[in-house]
Amino acid sequence: MKITSRICLILLCFGVSALAADQSVVLKAARMFDGKSNALVQNAVVIVQRDKIIDAGSNLPIPNGAQVIDLGDATLSPGFIDAHTHLTLDFSGDYNLRRLKEVDLNVSEQAIIATAHARATVEAGFTTVRDLGSHFVGSREFVDVALRNSINKGVIVGPRMLVATKGIGATGGHFDPTSGFRDFLFGREPDYTDGIADGPDEIRKAVRFEVKNGADVIKAAVSGGVLSLADEVDTPQLTPAEMAALVDESHRLRKKVAVHCHGDQAAHDAIEAGVDSIEHGSFMKSETLTMMKRKGTFLTPTLMATEWIMSKLENYPPALQAKAKSAAAARSEMFRNALKLGVKISFGTDAAVFPHGQNAKEFKLMVDLGMTPVDALRSATASDAELLGIGQKVGTLEKGKLADVIAMPGDPTSDITATERVLFVMKDGKVIRRGAPTVQGISESTTPDIAAPVD
Ligand SMILES: [Zn+2]
Repeated sequence: MKITSRICLILLCFGVSALAADQSVVLKAARMFDGKSNALVQNAVVIVQRDKIIDAGSNLPIPNGAQVIDLGDATLSPGFIDAHTHLTLDFSGDYNLRRLKEVDLNVSEQAIIATAHARATVEAGFTTVRDLGSHFVGSREFVDVALRNSINKGVIVGPRMLVATKGIGATGGHFDPTSGFRDFLFGREPDYTDGIADGPDEIRKAVRFEVKNGADVIKAAVSGGVLSLADEVDTPQLTPAEMAALVDESHRLRKKVAVHCHGDQAAHDAIEAGVDSIEHGSFMKSETLTMMKRKGTFLTPTLMATEWIMSKLENYPPALQAKAKSAAAARSEMFRNALKLGVKISFGTDAAVFPHGQNAKEFKLMVDLGMTPVDALRSATASDAELLGIGQKVGTLEKGKLADVIAMPGDPTSDITATERVLFVMKDGKVIRRGAPTVQGISESTTPDIAAPVD
């Protein structure tokens, strides 16, 4: 009898804990952007069990015993995705001071700082990021892989990350980590272990090395860039044969390829080689954009990056100011052309060029250049999920998807800056934020619920 009652007690305990784990959480709000429809759904209800959405729609009945979180006059949305971040880095302050820090701080300290970037990003509503490059001059550490794994294991709080490890590029190109420093300062010329590769065979070796060390996606620089000292912003930096090797080797290993590219010629060659997305694309002409449309290549415009640099020009050396000005002058027309031609546009910001956590400011820049608010929201949800190859799991609010759900006040289709005031974040069915953010002083921001800027 005694034994039986003990067993009963044990079963009861199991029963109770199973019930708690299976308890539904119901999110209610005045409206919802579901990632699929062109119009917002009114009287929105999203039902979550464990890490999944079990139903989403208008006026759905509340399951018995469910915990209800009523967010009131707000809009639910799939968690935002930023397809272009650098969570392990921060280029947002004075350029030369940053270069000093790069050689001054040890990589462990930079990794600890990155944990705050990760938290600021997810608390801003970005539950997934494609993190496109993480390198530390003179170091072989893979901080982005460590960050991704620690988030996945629940050691730290941050967005789901797809990481690129070191960007691949040519000697002296945009990704050469020793460019601008005295020759031999770091004791050797960088090689494929730093992402620096010349010739198709070395490019293949770099791709294999990165996948071996945990890359989910391959990033390469095919043209010059703004924040690099030894190149012109729009010159091609990989040959067509090198680009073909890059794409072939990456796709063979089932990894997508994102390429940093401002110049038109380099973009043309990269699209022809079959890359999955062009990052920035500032100088792309109509013929190149037409080719993107035909091949289904995504454009990730990163409007925030140029916007930030142009607003803080005094932080950069004169040579970089000139490059930033020419890229900024070209990119608005390029973006309008891309919209007109129906190029697939993904949402990506280049966070690190500006302080982490301000990613949502990209929405207003897109809308100001003619994108509809719903299309802008779709770019950061369903479209980015497609580009990242994770559309089966995230990007829309519907049955079977992972429960990445955020809420913003009011109606983002009448005021897109509502995206900058996210007030609720759930990732994988766990509430990460409800109310004020926990990270203070990481980001300068105009939003009233974030602390005053520190630096
Ligand atoms: Zn970038």
